Amino acid sequence: MQGVGFRPFVYRLAVERQLAGLVFNDSHGVQIELEGEGVVLDDFLQALEQQLPALAAINDLRVTNEAARSEQGFRIIESQADSGRSTEISPDATICDDCLRELFDTADRRYRYPFINCTNCGPRYTIVTDVPYDRPLTTMADFPMCPACRAEYDDPTSRRFHAQPNACPDCGPQLSFHAADGLLLPEQDPLVAAVERLQKGEIVAVKGLGGYHLAVDATNDEAVRRLRQRKLRDEKPFALMSFDLKRISRFAQVAEKEVRLLKGVERPIVLLRRREDHVLSPQVAPNNKFFGVMLPYTPLHYLLLEQFAALVMTSGNRSDEPIAFENAEAQRRLRGIADYTLQHNRRIHIRTDDSIARLLDGEPVLYRRSRGYVPRGVKLPGEQPAVLALGAELKSAICLTRGDRGYLSHHIGDLKNQQVVDSLKQAVTHLQGLFEVRPQAIAHDLHPDYLSTHVAGELAGELPLVAVQHHHAHLASCLVDNGQPGPAIGVIFDGIGYGRDGKIWGGEFLVGDLQQFERVAHLAYRPMPGGDAATREPWRMAVSHLQHAFGPEWPELAFLKEIGSADLKLLRQMIEKSLNSPLTSSVGRLFDAVAALVEVRNRVSYEGQAALELEMLIDEDGAGEPNYPFALDESAGLLQIDPAPMIRQLVQDLSEQVPPERISARFHNGLAQCILEVCRRIAAERGGLPIALSGGVFQNRYLTERTARLLRDAGFEVLLHHQVPPNDGGLALGQAVIAASYHQLHG
Ligand code: ZN
Ligand code: ZN
Ligand code: FE
Repeated sequence: MQGVGFRPFVYRLAVERQLAGLVFNDSHGVQIELEGEGVVLDDFLQALEQQLPALAAINDLRVTNEAARSEQGFRIIESQADSGRSTEISPDATICDDCLRELFDTADRRYRYPFINCTNCGPRYTIVTDVPYDRPLTTMADFPMCPACRAEYDDPTSRRFHAQPNACPDCGPQLSFHAADGLLLPEQDPLVAAVERLQKGEIVAVKGLGGYHLAVDATNDEAVRRLRQRKLRDEKPFALMSFDLKRISRFAQVAEKEVRLLKGVERPIVLLRRREDHVLSPQVAPNNKFFGVMLPYTPLHYLLLEQFAALVMTSGNRSDEPIAFENAEAQRRLRGIADYTLQHNRRIHIRTDDSIARLLDGEPVLYRRSRGYVPRGVKLPGEQPAVLALGAELKSAICLTRGDRGYLSHHIGDLKNQQVVDSLKQAVTHLQGLFEVRPQAIAHDLHPDYLSTHVAGELAGELPLVAVQHHHAHLASCLVDNGQPGPAIGVIFDGIGYGRDGKIWGGEFLVGDLQQFERVAHLAYRPMPGGDAATREPWRMAVSHLQHAFGPEWPELAFLKEIGSADLKLLRQMIEKSLNSPLTSSVGRLFDAVAALVEVRNRVSYEGQAALELEMLIDEDGAGEPNYPFALDESAGLLQIDPAPMIRQLVQDLSEQVPPERISARFHNGLAQCILEVCRRIAAERGGLPIALSGGVFQNRYLTERTARLLRDAGFEVLLHHQVPPNDGGLALGQAVIAASYHQLHG
């Protein structure tokens, strides 16, 4: 990988041991030639593996013996022009301990300099404009190095040898502080000015590594509320940043494995269980038992966070728009939201949002794979033709394959407007440039109307287009994530995916591999009255399920009180007459129905909100609650899961005043049990296959952990996601692999 300080590290090890030779990059990776005593060489090899720089990794090490050439001393040979081809650009990495020490060392020449970095840390992916990774091909090209920085850059014994973003207060990027209208304010110290405004409860847009954040003091309720209003973000949780673990532990519980996740070089936002005695604003994460928390990951963030228990650091955008990352653009787009802007003059080449991770089933999993992880490759089962895959619609990310790696892009967002589509096209150009790959095929979702499907058509030219079924792509993504070729039973539950029969799938049991699949069971179809409106208004799905479970006569229920009787009547007619009521097998929509029935909410302000809040209801006693029953119907050939008995039992419980937290647990428990039973039936016919759990519904921690436990206890091998998200953010990887195998088969 480029930009991780591997060659200077080799140089230091060799010089320390007085070994002669040289090190250089070529198209196979790094080559080292050494001359010396056998024991010293062994010692070198041991140190090579044990003392690796923070960002470096050895995938494969091969040693051969050659005749000595009597080299004098040890040299680093400059890269060949084409050496960028097989190596990768490093992801952006959090500030290292050495740089952090210098940042707060009054004697250091970079004391409190917000852009301090070295070969072990700092910006990479976000500043690279082209390969090979070299200063003129990064946005640091704007800053000629001063003699002191240049000397470090040229010194193989320095931590900053060939550190492309190397800079100092004399020669590097600078902060500036601006009013809401963009006017440059003549503040002595822009950072101090920003901290003072934040302490007063004002909203400051802060330019970071991959884009702008909107920052506000997380303990100031009125300020957080104002940010919510201005951002038009009603209830979605805000991310937090806090100076260190000690401060985090005052508002959230942090387990050992979560510490490692928080402190990793990737520095994702980690979902942590909130402490009940926290003093942060309740507006940070309404109706949620978890906080999304990250540690600072740039020197600027460390300086900014010194004085605060925690800052809200939410992406600098209006809802549904991509994160702002250019100064003029941020000024324009964040007007009316931010009171001030703290910016700097190091350009961000490609916008990159924060990543989101959590522990699930005791292991880390990503819910959003972006800054810190991108463009790290995911290992594929073998060499494949190069394919570009464009994802689906929500939480979009694209994927490019080269050799035996799949490269997922940064998080692009929900493809619902032209701005996001433009951002997707930029990502395509950027990835193809970085990896110097021209795809041989383009993969897209089977849905004919997704904007990503249209973009695929535009980009294709002469290239073959491969439409990949949504849930098959989820299954393949999970298989690749686990290094498995399949076949497996895929339990794929999500909100919406276009099915082979043109209906809306989302509660699927597939048997398949990286090439093909068969649908063997699914949640029974129900009308989704109003189409898209039903995803925004869970009460519609509740009515749809009630209508089916009870027929024309069903009991009066509390959740309908706020629905007008005319609206209700109209909706029931739509269902009866199949007007604008597409059929769906979506488990996401079943969660919506249950959430509405127990009065969690009738309307949502973001995708997955009702399901998340339903999960949050469950308390410690939930595990002991009984299972709601689902009926399995095989009469139509294909096994169908009928939720009607579950709905009837739930309504019975409502009439007996069973509290919502227990109803929620019974629903989750019943669904987990139902998955086990269906898998048993499939396995009885097909033999013991591993079971892959994928799709957005498996972000639900309670359901995923309970289901995994039940399946393992029954003797099944369970595959969960780790490196790529179970939601549509990981979909493009599966699309790419399926399309590659299709392309191999059909030319
Ligand atoms: Zn460093
Ligand atoms: Zn300098
Ligand atoms: Fe999906």
